Amino acid sequence: MDRRTFVIAALASTAMPSLAIAAAEGNFEVTRTDAEWRAMLTDLQYRVMRLQATERAGSSPLDKNYSDGVYHCRGCDLALYNSDTKYDSKTGWPSFFRARRNAIRTMEDRKLFSVRTECHCRRCGSHLGHIFSDGPAPTGQRHCLNGVSLVFRAA
Ligand SMILES: [Zn+2]
Repeated sequence: MDRRTFVIAALASTAMPSLAIAAAEGNFEVTRTDAEWRAMLTDLQYRVMRLQATERAGSSPLDKNYSDGVYHCRGCDLALYNSDTKYDSKTGWPSFFRARRNAIRTMEDRKLFSVRTECHCRRCGSHLGHIFSDGPAPTGQRHCLNGVSLVFRAA
């Protein structure tokens, strides 16, 4: 391992998940204590939704789900994405080109050396994923989401 690789590895191992969403965004309509979040979520759901971890690519059954319906926030049940905005990004994560109106908020994610656009539920602050600019028409956006943050309700 050369020095540069070592420095990056050291930073990666010490990079703390951001807990700053609530502080950065102000109060959410739906708030819960940390104990309440832990009680209602699995360990993986908690790590993704509250600590901004990322589920393993290809691990979510929702990645291949193309049924008609609406994807809701697992944290507060707010309707976030419609099935007609979902597409196959071939990344292994459920991907959409547009969120429902007034469903999500974003913030800059400056973990490590990249700057990404993080997105979370506007009502409870649960982390959903990131938004990239390599998506399809008409928006050109790719909302790359963690399936564990979502609950699909068939139409
Ligand atoms: Zn929510």
